[in-house]
Amino acid sequence: MARTLPMTKSSRPPLPTARLALLTFLLASGVHAQEPAPATPLPVPEPAATPAPAATPPARVEGTRIDIESQLRDAMNSGDPTKKKLNLLIDRKSAAGGLAPGSAPPLNPVDHLQREPGLVIRQQRNAPAATAKPAAPVSKNTPWGYEGEGGPGQWARLKPEFSTCAKGQRQSPIAIDDADTLKGPAEAIAFNYTPSSGTVVNNGHTIEVQLSGDNSLTVRGQTYRLQQFHFHHPAEERINSRVYPMVAHFVHRSDTGQLAVLAVLLEEGPSNPLIQKVWTHMPLDVKDHVPLPADLIHVGEILPRDQRYYQYMGSLTTPPCTEGVLWLILKQPASISAEQLRLFSQLYPNNARPVQSLNGRPVRDALLIAPGGRP
Ligand SMILES: [Zn+2]
Repeated sequence: MARTLPMTKSSRPPLPTARLALLTFLLASGVHAQEPAPATPLPVPEPAATPAPAATPPARVEGTRIDIESQLRDAMNSGDPTKKKLNLLIDRKSAAGGLAPGSAPPLNPVDHLQREPGLVIRQQRNAPAATAKPAAPVSKNTPWGYEGEGGPGQWARLKPEFSTCAKGQRQSPIAIDDADTLKGPAEAIAFNYTPSSGTVVNNGHTIEVQLSGDNSLTVRGQTYRLQQFHFHHPAEERINSRVYPMVAHFVHRSDTGQLAVLAVLLEEGPSNPLIQKVWTHMPLDVKDHVPLPADLIHVGEILPRDQRYYQYMGSLTTPPCTEGVLWLILKQPASISAEQLRLFSQLYPNNARPVQSLNGRPVRDALLIAPGGRP
């Protein structure tokens, strides 16, 4: 029921350009054609669930029942320049439109923006200075990390040898979706892990266990020796849109220098015996290290019973992001207790690189396991 505004006879001079622009904007926004606001409150959007719907039409928002037409008419007909605020007023009302009736607007503007993507555009349009990213050059002495100016998006700028982090086309981690994998038989990974000793290191990016024993895995006709294992919180790889709270990466190297990383996802449950041994000897300070008692670590302890896996070619997930890494991601997660999780997350609240573009790489989903895969 689009209605045109009645033209009021007036002896006033022609409308100033600003007001014409305002009228054009409001008409284009459909404001003039909206029904009065519904009597029932608007549904409250699920926080952090599916993306919020597009910005609610302003005139449907509770609190803007005032006849906008008459406001607009007043603005057009009066000489009062303050009526030009009408445009901003409508924006603000609509910004509050996703909230439950009577609820206070969120105090944290960032929270608010995250919950209402539709609003971001308005905010950016009105206040570009507050959201613009600084383009300041990164200091050469900036250490790499997971946030701020040493964060993942800046790694390639920190050192020339980190350039692959940005230029690489076969980077890790990735998001794996079962619907897109190459399903078919694949050989079992043959694990050869033995009781070992080693050293627990806090390297400033993670807790890492450097092993000294005879540990290896064999796959695709190649044997890879275990060098170290370490942890990420949350898990870096995303499996069918799921993010696990942690992952353990077991870094292996072949005699020819090729890397193979075995990923064991961790989900909250009973205490993990292997992790308990590592945490017991966890160094707290960066660069601190704690030697482990002889034969304490048996990596086989953490392997899940079901050893089917995903396989793809990727990179290190930390600088220098070297490519050519064979990734083996066990599909069945192992367990970690809430207490074990909490201890690591207190040291490393976030040490996960965001997922990288697949760029057409195939991901194999090893459906079948030949007998004898388990050590
Ligand atoms: Zn890792």
